[in-house]
Amino acid sequence: MDGPEFFDQGDLVSVLTTQPLGRALDYRAPEGGCHRGAFVEVPLGPRKVLGVVWGAGQGDYDLSKIRAVIRVLDAAPMREEMRSFLARAAAYTLTPMPAMLRLATRAPGLGDPPSMRRVYRRGLSEPERMTDARRRVLATLQEYGDLSFTLKELAEQAGVTPSVVKGLVGQGAVAEEDSPRDLPFPRLDPELPGKALTDDQAAGAEVLAEAVRSQSYGTTLLRGVTGSGKTEVYLEAVAATLRAGRQALVLLPEIALTEQFLHRVEERFGAKPAEWHSGATMTERRRIWRMVGQGQAQLVIGARSALFLPFQSLGLIVVDEEHDTSYKQEDGVLYHARDMAVLRASICGAQVVLASATPSLETWANVEAGKYRRLDLTSRFGPAVMPQMGAIDMRDEGLRSDRWVSPTLQAEVNKRLEKGEQAMLFINRRGYAPVTLCRACGHQIGCDHCDARMVEHRFLKRLICHQCGESKPMPEVCPSCEAVDRLAPVGPGVERLGEEAAALWPDARVAVLSSDMYGSARALKAEIAGIAAGAADIIIGTQLVAKGHNFPNLTLVGVIDADLGLMGSDLRAAERTFQLMRQVAGRAGRAEAPGAALLQTYQPDHPVIRAILAGDEEAFWSAEAKERHQAGVPPYGRMAGIILSGPDVAQVFDAGNLLAQRDAPLRRIGAQVFGPAPAPIARVRGRHRVRLLVKAEKSAPLQEALAQWVAQVKLKGELRLAVDIDPQSFY
Ligand code: ADP
Ligand code: ZN
Repeated sequence: MDGPEFFDQGDLVSVLTTQPLGRALDYRAPEGGCHRGAFVEVPLGPRKVLGVVWGAGQGDYDLSKIRAVIRVLDAAPMREEMRSFLARAAAYTLTPMPAMLRLATRAPGLGDPPSMRRVYRRGLSEPERMTDARRRVLATLQEYGDLSFTLKELAEQAGVTPSVVKGLVGQGAVAEEDSPRDLPFPRLDPELPGKALTDDQAAGAEVLAEAVRSQSYGTTLLRGVTGSGKTEVYLEAVAATLRAGRQALVLLPEIALTEQFLHRVEERFGAKPAEWHSGATMTERRRIWRMVGQGQAQLVIGARSALFLPFQSLGLIVVDEEHDTSYKQEDGVLYHARDMAVLRASICGAQVVLASATPSLETWANVEAGKYRRLDLTSRFGPAVMPQMGAIDMRDEGLRSDRWVSPTLQAEVNKRLEKGEQAMLFINRRGYAPVTLCRACGHQIGCDHCDARMVEHRFLKRLICHQCGESKPMPEVCPSCEAVDRLAPVGPGVERLGEEAAALWPDARVAVLSSDMYGSARALKAEIAGIAAGAADIIIGTQLVAKGHNFPNLTLVGVIDADLGLMGSDLRAAERTFQLMRQVAGRAGRAEAPGAALLQTYQPDHPVIRAILAGDEEAFWSAEAKERHQAGVPPYGRMAGIILSGPDVAQVFDAGNLLAQRDAPLRRIGAQVFGPAPAPIARVRGRHRVRLLVKAEKSAPLQEALAQWVAQVKLKGELRLAVDIDPQSFY
């Protein structure tokens, strides 16, 4: 970017705001002037809004009407590198800049001065009379040393009422003082001894450390089965980054952000890192945002949106479980965190580590093309080996249509229970039953707002639409024919499987793990920790158990329906099934006892099932790559989805047809348009949805052509258009 770096008072500056306007607006620099990149408050109509000084003003607006910037906020100006990242991410995802800026300013009170809060420390005197409650307060302060608590935090931690603390303050045993709210994060020490690495691990760690020291961009795929020590290895890359005086970011799928993980980081570096996720309090978000910007948070562990934090000197981004589907943001700004991590790193000269046991085909293809380096960790750490994989051919099991655990699987579970080991039954479906059918008239209960069936959640005693979240109580009579007592569940969900397990193994402790069954992420994590420590014999779970948890005593995983993922029309169906099955299987046999994974399937000869059973990843990936190559689909071709939606079905289709006809901008780059067609879920929240799919060659300048093409639709009334570059889901 060009233009001056500083603007004197009265100079014309162009300010990008977070308001949905077509362009940045001109203002006059305030008293004292301002830097390019400064966070400012500007008047917009009657309001004051947040903005960033983007450059020199354009001067194409009536000069007499231009207003002045109200004030420059007390925050480090946005760096050139960040502005360039936002601009390029916006161009790639076809997102308006104000929406990008909103992503980069997701912390409250950015402009407020660092306010003070009252904190409590150990005082100099002893209390006149010691009570149990008083002892607990002093012990808490002792235990946490220099850490300062607010009154509420201290009372809670010690399990006393605030008045006990106040009493101690009165006697000088506890000191009360004011300290700034946004405290820097404690220093992390990369020199603390890490674990003694195996040869394999040490070699990988050295390659990454060397790359980090180069202070230049590069991406490495770190591949190894679950338990091979990928985390240990990339923590060494973090150590190298800290030694170089730069900052590191570790991205995890939201659910993998566990205490267990934070504890490992703390053990390695002697202090807790900053933790950025949806559960973080507003105060904490603000603190992290500011400290990251001042270089006083060296390591951030976070969910995908942490990519948009204003790092001062970012040297490393780790994307753990890089294949995880939750890295694609599916509403608002549609971006893929893995791709954005690579973009950001390439702009600021940082290294990227993509860690996975089952990398995405995208990453695989980039390795093949020589764009990414590849490191393999070959075996599990310690005595554990990969589980034995086997199929249960369901055609031979003679199972009743309302039962899902085959006799073979049941017998295998029995063996584990006798030995005091844990078994897991996996089904990737939340709720009790996916369909509720009236046995009198055949009616299936659907959502009033979507073209989707309502899923019974017996635990919550409701029917829930998994598309829009709409829920209603289970009806007493059929909503169509009003027959009484004829509504019946069809098909299994995780809750129903739990019921079957409880009946099959009445003496076993059965735990059902599904994200919707716990009030909070914290409660869920606590439950998982308890189960890992032995609080259950049989674990029934959905996808979330496949992600990064340690169950040391688990030796058998039974996959109830291995065919489930293969039925979709999604181009990644095979890839997803392969990854999910491998991940689930990887849960078994982490410690000393060897594990086994059994897949119940009606198609044991399906190529994907066979590749899973053979454990032959390279063969699977080559076959999958060949098919996608031939079809010209990602990662060997480019795709974009267009979703048009609105309350009026005719209007939505008219807009879709218009786009399909006026495809000249796309034809110029050799791209093809498919559709309009009703989206697989043709109605969500009462809005009709129509989609078009654009396919182009890998090298085609797709974004420009798309922008010209969609600009032909005038978005009147409630008609909406969303462009999804590299779509991951097709609903
Ligand atoms: P991954 O990230 O590949 O799943 P982890 O790094 O979590 O693997 O390692 C699995 C387990 O083995 C962890 O409990 C980890 O602490 C332990 N581990 C891995 N490598 C070592 C090592 N070199 N020394 C001691 N423990 C190790
Ligand atoms: Zn719905």
